[in-house]
Amino acid sequence: MTLREAYEYGQEQLKNAEIQDAVLDAWYLLEFVTGISRAMYFLRVNEEMSSEQEKQYKAYLVTRASHIPLQHITGVQEFMGLEFCVNEHVLVPRQDTEVLVESVLDVLEPGMKVLDMCTGSGCILISLCKLGKDIAGTGVDISEEALKVAYRNAEKLRADVTLLQSDLFANVEGKYDVIVSNPPYIRTAVIEELKEEVKFHDPFLALDGKEDGLYFYRKIVEESPKYLKKEGKLYFEIGHDQGNDVKCLMEEAGFAKVTVKKDLAGLDRVVFGVYN
Ligand code: GLN
Repeated sequence: MTLREAYEYGQEQLKNAEIQDAVLDAWYLLEFVTGISRAMYFLRVNEEMSSEQEKQYKAYLVTRASHIPLQHITGVQEFMGLEFCVNEHVLVPRQDTEVLVESVLDVLEPGMKVLDMCTGSGCILISLCKLGKDIAGTGVDISEEALKVAYRNAEKLRADVTLLQSDLFANVEGKYDVIVSNPPYIRTAVIEELKEEVKFHDPFLALDGKEDGLYFYRKIVEESPKYLKKEGKLYFEIGHDQGNDVKCLMEEAGFAKVTVKKDLAGLDRVVFGVYN
């Protein structure tokens, strides 16, 4: 099979399986197996793949066609320009979440202490520590398996962070300048409607915001004042229809200057406020 034939074959297989980004994913799998760049591909379209590569590529296509996420095959996802390891124990980092990281970066100052609640792969915390200056970062997750991934990412990206296994604030100590969180926020009943890649392969624990989707916001809003320094800030990622609800929760708990911020698609995505 030539590289061009392989690419076309891959696209067709994934389209037939109704994979959303069939063309893109066929390319990523071809790149993953052969290590070829886009530019080299165009120079070498008529070259044969090795039989080993062809076998591997086809096997990955079968896996992807069964709606296993691309990132669970390649084992990585880029986020904030950094490459994070992922597996089935963590939520695959989403581009939407970059708005949250950028919002926090705007207010970070050297020496600040940051807590990332529900850190998962560690993508938020590690990005903040890499892109901010002299940040003391702590990541918390209830899942030991997720923390293993976060630990691996911290090592790989050489980020000096503390990781803590804790059911929300149960094992957290000290006070922070910023608490940031992208907690599970999907209403349980809605998880059923999500695409297969998400509902079957992202961890349920990382998606489920319980009955009204607001369970973790309530808990974190209620508890975070104890762990915030004076003028400390709380930053959340939210679902597009949760802006008002989370803003109200924060205001009722005494947060000031509560602001809802939109993502690049123009949807409400981040809510933040200050605790005096
Ligand atoms: N903080 C991680 C992320 O944003 C995990 C979030 C989660 O598991 N809900 O990707």
